[in-house]
Amino acid sequence: MSSVFIISAPSGSGKSTLVGHLMQRVSNLRFSVSYTTRQPRGQEKDGTEYYFISRDQFQARIDRDEFLEWANVFGNFYGTHQSELDRATADGFDLILDIDVKGARQLKERIPGAVSIFILPPSRKELEQRLRSRSQDTEEVIQRRLSEAAEEIRNYSQYDYVLVNREVQASVDNLVAIVSANRSRRHWMEQQIRPILETFEDGRKS
Ligand code: 5GP
Repeated sequence: MSSVFIISAPSGSGKSTLVGHLMQRVSNLRFSVSYTTRQPRGQEKDGTEYYFISRDQFQARIDRDEFLEWANVFGNFYGTHQSELDRATADGFDLILDIDVKGARQLKERIPGAVSIFILPPSRKELEQRLRSRSQDTEEVIQRRLSEAAEEIRNYSQYDYVLVNREVQASVDNLVAIVSANRSRRHWMEQQIRPILETFEDGRKS
């Protein structure tokens, strides 16, 4: 099975930028496209950022137990479909999921070997500045996101790794290191180790 990497962070902490850079730096890593009931924003396209579906369609997938995890986030439903992991595994890709803390908890229960990373902004003030500089939200939304961030941040202790996003390049380097270290775990290396050991066995025979 593929390695599964979970990334969670409060809105405005720079998570999408970091994941984008990570995907460019690391081979064989695929972004898990979730299903959601929220409306597309701006340039978002169905099947790229999300699969946009109705509440009824989402409920039907819950009833058929098709989601690896799902959660209600800020009033909309979001879920990771089992087929994302199946396809990544079949294609020889690891999977990276951008999901909230409730989803991360469910996924860890289901796949204990999943590696979870929580991204923290350097401070509340910094997060506020970043949310304002995006200038895509109203004052009310900014204040709501800040109080939601305070809630989400309390869950950092359920994650394997915590990364403070002070500077993009350093944070991306850290993410690359986490992915690389995990890929070197003996469990994931077995397939590569066996043929190497065989060359030693062959050497002993001759
Ligand atoms: P947004 O609507 O801003 O794209 O995402 C809102 C929140 O939903 C983010 O915290 C994101 O991590 C989370 N999210 C996106 N996809 C999923 C998913 O499949 N499952 C869960 N549990 N959360 C998700």
